[in-house]
Amino acid sequence: MTVIIPKEVYFTVVAACVRFANRKRPKEDWKEVSGIFTGKFLENKNGKDLYVSACYPIMHDTFDPNNANVDESDPRTVIDGYEYSDEDHESFALIDEDAFSRGEFTVGWWHSHPGFKVMLSGFGDRKTTISYQAHNPLAIALVFNPDRLVRQIELPQKAGDPVRQLRDDPGFKIFRMEDPNDRYSNFYEVEYKIEGFEDNEQMVRSAQKLAIDITNFFSGENVFEIYDKFIDSRINELNSLLQGVEEYLHTLSRTGESHRIHEVLSSQTRDIRKFIAETFIKVENIREFMNYLEYKEQSIIIPKVDSILAEWDNTVSQLNANLTEIAKKFAF
Ligand SMILES: [Zn+2]
Repeated sequence: MTVIIPKEVYFTVVAACVRFANRKRPKEDWKEVSGIFTGKFLENKNGKDLYVSACYPIMHDTFDPNNANVDESDPRTVIDGYEYSDEDHESFALIDEDAFSRGEFTVGWWHSHPGFKVMLSGFGDRKTTISYQAHNPLAIALVFNPDRLVRQIELPQKAGDPVRQLRDDPGFKIFRMEDPNDRYSNFYEVEYKIEGFEDNEQMVRSAQKLAIDITNFFSGENVFEIYDKFIDSRINELNSLLQGVEEYLHTLSRTGESHRIHEVLSSQTRDIRKFIAETFIKVENIREFMNYLEYKEQSIIIPKVDSILAEWDNTVSQLNANLTEIAKKFAF
């Protein structure tokens, strides 16, 4: 059985995890992120494949990097800090219900090991995986390490052991417990295929680029505040650019350089359009990143983001009218 992971699902794992473990955050503030997958089984001549159709980030939690290097043979070691709240359990139920209405179901869970080895660690990971396999014997557990993707290295299990260089590695592995009734049983790796890329090299390059974009513009809890400030400053800047054009043209007409007004107006208009195009790229990023929010954040953050983006769209839509008005004042 192969697990099929579409590009959007992979990107959601990458983005949601990099958001809380990236180079803009001090390492002691790196947090584990976890979530679930929904999907369905596809029958084929080799049997069944598991198709993961959606990925839902659920929560992030604190992680103590001093505990990162643990002895895997000791099942009492707990390195995972995740603990689900009532709100998270509510998310699980809603997502499962929604999947069911599409003829799908929850097919497993995922979480990040920011800066440490990709495996099912300690009690927590095994217990959680078993609980998913109890409902569905073919359920999966995906473990992603942002550092593994970004630096293309396999971190050792114990401090001091050699670091292994990787090539075209997506930064995760998928596991399942051998015996879904025994949390002391071993886990094994499950084969997977990521869809939507030309090849592994292009896949890893795109995911690494996403990790950079996320680091720069989707890092930490306060993404709405960041976007609110950003759009606000862009609107102010656009207004002051327009005001600047008008003042410039006034000066020209006052100092007897009216013959330059046409030329100056078109070059300033070009600059303003360039500024808008640059902002547009960021606005598109913001829209895309809404897909990577935690489930419980969506209903709170998305409407607020929609409203600030509408403000920006509105400002831009008035631009032509504003420019025409300025041109009119100077007889164009
Ligand atoms: Zn873990």
